Order: sequence, then structure tokens, then C-alpha cells
Amino acid sequence: MDYYEILGISKNAQPDAIKKAYRLLALKFHPDKNPGSKEAEEKFKRAAIAYEVLSNPEKRRHYDTYGEQGQQFGGNQYRDANDIFANFGDIFSDLFSQAAQSQRSSSRSPKRGADLTSSVEINFLESAASCEKEIIIEKEASCASCAGRGAKKGTDPEICTQCKGKGSIIRSQGFFSISSTCPKCLGAGNTIQHKCSDCFGYGRIRLKKTLKIKIPAGAFSGTKLRIQGEGDDGERKGPPGDLIVEVNVTKDSRFRREGNDVVSKVSVTMAQAVLGTRVEIETLKGQEFFDIPKGVQPGTKLKLGGRGFPSIKGYGRGDQFVEVEVIIPLKLNPRQEEIMREFAGISAELVNRPVAGFFQRFRRKNPDVSKH
Ligand SMILES: [Zn+2]
Ligand SMILES: [Zn+2]
Repeated sequence: MDYYEILGISKNAQPDAIKKAYRLLALKFHPDKNPGSKEAEEKFKRAAIAYEVLSNPEKRRHYDTYGEQGQQFGGNQYRDANDIFANFGDIFSDLFSQAAQSQRSSSRSPKRGADLTSSVEINFLESAASCEKEIIIEKEASCASCAGRGAKKGTDPEICTQCKGKGSIIRSQGFFSISSTCPKCLGAGNTIQHKCSDCFGYGRIRLKKTLKIKIPAGAFSGTKLRIQGEGDDGERKGPPGDLIVEVNVTKDSRFRREGNDVVSKVSVTMAQAVLGTRVEIETLKGQEFFDIPKGVQPGTKLKLGGRGFPSIKGYGRGDQFVEVEVIIPLKLNPRQEEIMREFAGISAELVNRPVAGFFQRFRRKNPDVSKH
């Protein structure tokens, strides 16, 4: 799906236009306005995904460069409308009373989890086709034992006695009243008497997780994949962050990548270059026979159409260019030298004289050569 199309905006839409387009769609397809309509709900979610990407300059640049292929969605992004409002409450704040706004500005409002980074290594041939790799990440997750509340099972956090659950206290200083974070509960609004033994009352734990990452065909060193929802868990029902995986492609002595094209080399002998030949060439998909035309010049780049990398954007494919190397023999046997000299003679080419006594010595060792 094309995020610009979903929001009905042009590729160079300004942030204001993106926000406006999203707001209109979100209001139109909001589940409360379309009770029971799966279609409206789907459109509402898609608009949120498109908005999340296009409203963030970094994500938008990423999307423009790599297309949707670079975006992957983890398990739990946007289960329902409330998730979406927890994430984008800001842009609706003038429409949905002050409640959303004041809730967000308080330290107890939902907080999106942090984005995480990781990397994955693939080899040159793997980068030409899509592949799957396992990576292990460590993220901050909500503690499962206490459902993130920090209190031991069967007990509840208690309302903070100092701030009465507000998380902040008001102090009067002369004419002014100053609101500051409650020193007892540090803004949480409650205190925990019986702490959960898994998270020591923090409600959050470090979690090791193995993920299968799908790497799109055509990925190159530096390609960044965004796996939605696999960053740190959000806090207070905020959505999770994303995981950004940078791809590293190892080198291959046989190939070099230039854009979506592949460059390789083939060596032919002098005679093969002059007369033409058929050689086996390594491509990204294996060996292939290829005709080298008669009279090919050293350094010529022969094109094998469509044997390059698929574009990571999902359409189009590069070519393979095979650079021809001509091997000039360092040594010739006497018969070869004789023919070369004859060749030079016919074409009236000036060449060095043979080493003195060459033919005499040669004839002594090979008495029957003169018959040829
Ligand atoms: Zn307190
Ligand atoms: Zn816990």
C-alpha cells in the first residue's frame, strides 16, 4: 500500500497537509462513528500507520528511499482506536476536549517505548534474493508477572499518601503556587508495599527475544529495516517503540555491486578474444553460458540484461556487466612462437627478432619439427 495514496496527498506534501489529511480521515473512519464496520476500522488503522510514517521526517525519508519493503510490522501495533489515540492524541487535542491534552502533559500519561537498533549480516548472494535471518535483541518489556504494575501478585499498589495519587504536589511560595513532582512516589501517584519479585517493583524487565527478520531482495549495506512494535514496550499503555535493523552485506570476490547492477570479470585467451568463444559466467543465480563475440577488446563490458539486483523498492532489476580480461601468454612453446611470427609477418607487423640460435637449438631437440 502506498502511504501517500492512503492519505490522499502528493509525494511532496508538507507536514501541515499530512496532518490535515490524516485528521480528516481519522474523523471519518473513527470506530465510534462507524460502529461495527470492519472496513472503517481497517481504513482507520491504515491511515494511522501511513500518518505515523509520513509525519516523522526520519521514517518518511526511509519510506521514500526503501518503500514499504523497509517497513515491517511487529505483532502488536495498533490493536484498537485507543492505541492510536495514545500515540497521536496531540493532533486531536483541539477536537477532543482538554482531557487528552492534560493527560498527555502529565507524567502519568501513556508513553511510547523507545526505538531500538540492531544489525544483521548477510552474504552477497543472499542480498540478491529475499532471505530470513534470526537476530537476538534485548528490550525493555512490561513485566508479565505483575502486568507492569510492580506489585506482587494478589496485592495492589497503594495510593501515595503524600500527593493523594496526583503524582504532583503544590507548594505555595509567597504569591505563587508551584506544582512539582511528588518526592515520595516520584510522580507515579502510588507506592508499592509488596514488590513483585521479578521486576523488583519497577514493572519492567530486560527481555531477550529472538526475532525472525525478513530481509527484502535487493537490500544493501546500510539498508535499514524498521520492525514496527519490536522496540521497548510503552509505559502506561503507550504503544511500543520500533526496532531498526541495519543490514550488512559481506563482500564477494567474484562480484561487485554498482547501484542495482552487478559487475564481474571473465578471462579469455588471446585466441578466444580474436575468434570469439562461449564461456560459463557466474551470475547471482548460478552459472550461465554466454557468447563472447569475435574481436572483443580487453576491458569491454558485456551486458547480461536483467541479471542484476532487484530494486529494494519492489520493482525493476539491474543488469550484470562482465568485464573482459584478455590473457597474454607469458611463454609460448616453439610451435606457438613460430605461428605468432608467421601471423606478424602476414600482417606486416614489426616484432622483435627471435633470440639468436632459437630455431637451431629447437630443431636439435625436436628433429621432426621441420616436417610441419
Ligand atoms: Zn506521591
Ligand atoms: Zn513485576
